[in-house]
Amino acid sequence: MTVMIISKEKQRKVLKEMHKFPIGGHQVVQRTYDRLKLYVTWPGMFQDVEDYIRKCEVCQKNKLTGPYVKVSLQETDTQYQPWDKLYLDIVGLLPMTEEGYKYILTCQDNLSKYLLAKPMITQTADEVALIFFPLCNFALWHTKFK
Ligand SMILES: [Zn+2]
Repeated sequence: MTVMIISKEKQRKVLKEMHKFPIGGHQVVQRTYDRLKLYVTWPGMFQDVEDYIRKCEVCQKNKLTGPYVKVSLQETDTQYQPWDKLYLDIVGLLPMTEEGYKYILTCQDNLSKYLLAKPMITQTADEVALIFFPLCNFALWHTKFK
């Protein structure tokens, strides 16, 4: 259930709390807006989110300043066997499929670059765990019992 907020002061307060949330805060406009609209709404909310984030000091400091940012070469910590180190990422928000999927969980093995992609309805930790734990079992089986 979403709540309509009329008061400009309360809109600003809710937006601030959502954007500056200590865990996973300072997200981009779309992600902040998507998170916010799960709970509240008001006319012009997307524009307000955009304006707020454009003025957010923390976001501006962390933003890349130009198109040519040269990153120095670093020694990698490539693993010795597959499934020792995995990279997880969530792609989305995507257009919803007929089954209700809006996100993709990707899991890539650091050594082999083998990539798995699974559709997700939400991006909650519960759903990630439901997908990821069977992958861990697969990885364990692959490395220990092959
Ligand atoms: Zn910010």
